[in-house]
Amino acid sequence: MRAAWLLLALAPLAAAQAEPPPLLPPAQGESIANAVSGSLALRAVRTLSQHHRMRGSAGYRAATEAIRDRLTEYGLEGVEIISLPADGRIFYGTQRSRPGWNARFAELWEGPRRIASWAEQPISLAQDSVSGRADADLIDVGAGTAASDYADRDVRGKLVLTSSQPGEIAALAIGTHGAAGIISWAQNQRTAWWGDDDTLVRWGHLDTFAAHPTFAFMVSPARARGWQERLRRGETVHLRAQVDAGQAPSAYLIPTAIVPGRRRDREIVYSCHLDHPSPGANDNASGCAGILEVARTLQRLVRSGALPQPERTIRFIWPAEIEGTIALLNARPEYARRTLATIHLDMIGGNSEVTKSVLRVHGSPPSLPSFVSDVGFTFARYVNAQSLLFADTGAADHPLIDPEGDRRALQAEIGGFNQGSDHEVWAEGSWRVPVIYIADWPDRTIHTQRDLPDNLDPTKMRRAIFIAAASGWYLANLGREPDDQIRLWREMRAGAIARGADTARRAEALRAAGASEEEVANLWTRYRESELRIGLSLQRVFDGVSLTVLGELPRLIDAISPVASGPRRIAGTIYRRARSDGPMNGFGYSWFDDHLARAGLTRPRLLARTADGPGPGFGYEALNLVDGRLSVGEIRDELAVTVGAAPVEEVAEYLDVLARLGVIAAVER
Ligand SMILES: [Zn+2]
Repeated sequence: MRAAWLLLALAPLAAAQAEPPPLLPPAQGESIANAVSGSLALRAVRTLSQHHRMRGSAGYRAATEAIRDRLTEYGLEGVEIISLPADGRIFYGTQRSRPGWNARFAELWEGPRRIASWAEQPISLAQDSVSGRADADLIDVGAGTAASDYADRDVRGKLVLTSSQPGEIAALAIGTHGAAGIISWAQNQRTAWWGDDDTLVRWGHLDTFAAHPTFAFMVSPARARGWQERLRRGETVHLRAQVDAGQAPSAYLIPTAIVPGRRRDREIVYSCHLDHPSPGANDNASGCAGILEVARTLQRLVRSGALPQPERTIRFIWPAEIEGTIALLNARPEYARRTLATIHLDMIGGNSEVTKSVLRVHGSPPSLPSFVSDVGFTFARYVNAQSLLFADTGAADHPLIDPEGDRRALQAEIGGFNQGSDHEVWAEGSWRVPVIYIADWPDRTIHTQRDLPDNLDPTKMRRAIFIAAASGWYLANLGREPDDQIRLWREMRAGAIARGADTARRAEALRAAGASEEEVANLWTRYRESELRIGLSLQRVFDGVSLTVLGELPRLIDAISPVASGPRRIAGTIYRRARSDGPMNGFGYSWFDDHLARAGLTRPRLLARTADGPGPGFGYEALNLVDGRLSVGEIRDELAVTVGAAPVEEVAEYLDVLARLGVIAAVER
């Protein structure tokens, strides 16, 4: 009944009022909406997913070449594959380079039955496995992470079965107790669907820099339970394993290309991560194919004259997750220097009925308030509205349906910030490049053999690609059209009002939970500062030109906030960043943990704290807030609003450890 009413009410309205995409000149927005294709992107996913894309491997190289060839075919400029040596000794800032890892053969047999085969299912061999053989009984060590797991069990020369990731038990099982190899049934990230499918084989990892190299096979929980039952009955399980694999000096390969702008010294970057086990369709062949489709679309539209040459250069990169980005930003400092914003795509296509995913459109971390987030959110809201209108009525101007895809409404989650991919490197305090992050969560097939291209919906891909393409195009041209400032200001104003409403709700929740008025005031103080910094972030793009926005924003904030701006409350040391060459944790290597151990310091308590919400973690954001201006007390106040309430002593302790490690230094006052 409701649907019929909506049809009557909305259909004439939809027909009467064309609704082109926001922010952009209407013809430009419509050109982009009409040109992006989900099917084409899905075809690229199918190609990429055939390669086992381990960093520095032959499969990864094949994927980079497939990307490069497509970029050349599409006619992009500056097509190259950047090659940065990776041998385990070279450091790129805080990332210790990891040597390449290749497997040539790996099989696991029980009697006449083949249990696992590298050739058939490469995910069944844990990454960083080394060559070896075993013809041995299987011993179940449970989690295998505690000494007690090995009491009364002789695992010497045997294969051990574990529910943990192989890397977590290698030192004990192999180093201390002399096992011959590891069989792991470690499972997926915990979500509502966790444990439903006991046939999933998960991506396994060994420590790249392990003192006791070994090999490990990954099996499903169903397989492991079968063995466990037989072992409990007193049967022996005898397996034969053979592995030919290992590390060797290699390189981080990063395909790149540009759509050149009139200004070459300012860039908008599209990023993704090209590595991951095959098939790895949603994670992350989808994001890689997504930015490839953005490249094809924008290049074609510029060449045909439907879009003008962009004001700023638009660049595309395909690095290995986190480590490739840290390596790139250190080896080629101009990348961070000239980049005004990075749009990062990681998992953009999961068919929500299959993967159970919800598309998220996130912005920069709270420590880096930026109008760039509002740009991404504006296009995402448009696609949400258009796709819902179409789902409700069968008519909308730009529902962005792919001919081979679904017609469901997108229902993307818009706003906030989440860690978990390369965007957190760009936005980290070393570089502070604002980001838009488009990503699915959850995906019940992530990092398993079932992350298949068939799980993807080309309509969803088309919509995510449109949000990315329109946002980047807008950012590459912002300031060119006379109305740009007005259009942007309207969106920023709406964003400020919406965040003000969120803040008001949080303030009431705090009061209801018995918080002091001081804490409530702190909430509003952070709101005011964050909104003002969003306005100021425009200067980075407009190169210091004075803006009407900057005059209007303070008045708007005064009208929204019930708490007036007060004097700063400097409390404790003020630190500045002493080294700006990457986050404390890279991939497969933690600079922080390594240097903490060398210095013989205890792990700061703040790092054991879990954040109140899904946003950034304490360690990441506390360091990001070190800017040569904020004192320890102010950083605590900021964290209380954006991450969670922590005692100021814990914040001071963490920053003191960072200072001892030379990451930050006290500012003389
Ligand atoms: Zn990913």
